[in-house]
This record gives sequence, C-alpha cells and structure tokens, in this order.
Amino acid sequence: MYRVNKQFDFQAAHVLSKHPGLCRFPHGHNYKVEITLTAQELDENNMVCDFQALKIILSECLDQLDHSILLNSSDLAGRKSQENNPRCHLFENKDPTSEVLAETIFHFLQDRLGKRIVHSSSGIEYKINPSAKLEKVRLWETPTAWAEYQP
Ligand SMILES: [Zn+2]
Repeated sequence: MYRVNKQFDFQAAHVLSKHPGLCRFPHGHNYKVEITLTAQELDENNMVCDFQALKIILSECLDQLDHSILLNSSDLAGRKSQENNPRCHLFENKDPTSEVLAETIFHFLQDRLGKRIVHSSSGIEYKINPSAKLEKVRLWETPTAWAEYQP
C-alpha cells in the first residue's frame, strides 16, 4: 500500500460555547491541516494522488474557513454578535472543536475526491486515482495539540 500526506495552514477564530473556561470566549488559532491518502495501486502517472490536485481540493474547503469565525449554530449570543460578519461559519448544533473541524474537512474532501476530476484555475485537468482513499484528517490547533478524524 502507498500513502501520501500533505499539510496546509489557515487562520480562524472560534467560540466553544459549551466550554467551562476561557475557550468559550472568541479567540483565534493558526491551524495546520494534515491529510493522508492511501492507495493499493498507483495511477497512470505513478502517483497516489497529485499533490497539486490535493492543494486545489483543500483550498476549496479552507477558503471557506480561512479568516472566518466558527460558531455553534445554537450559540445565539455568538450569532448575534456576528450578524454583520460575512465570514461567519456555523456548525449545526456542534461547537467547532478541532475534532469537529477535522471531521468536517474529512467529509468535504471525501465527497470532492469522489468526483474524480479536479481543474486548476489555469485549466489543467487532474484525474483522481480510483484506488486513492482519504484515510484521515489531522488538525493541529497549536504546535503541541492535534485532533484527528478517521472513520
Ligand atoms: Zn480554541
């Protein structure tokens, strides 16, 4: 089996509305996302998945989260404070913990990889290896703390 890993960064604020301590107040993180794909067989270009294709797909996801504030949809006070903020991203009845973010990113990527075709802004087409599977998403919240989602 083959395995590839790629890392990306984004910055976001979040509020953990159920947290008993300071995390219930708005604060920011420099997140690092690590994604891991496996494949039993390489594609016609002898790759698990082109790193450029992974960059394009993950950008589609992280562009929504980058420089935004992440809130629990049931945090009404938090939503009210951000009602004029177009960069507010809601998580359905869940606090946007690193675990929830890793799972959200995982499902976005898995759905997107399933479409099997990626186009760059310059028109290059990348075909996704049918043997490639998203294994896990690891989200670093700080340089010493990460959460991981692997179904
Ligand atoms: Zn935090």
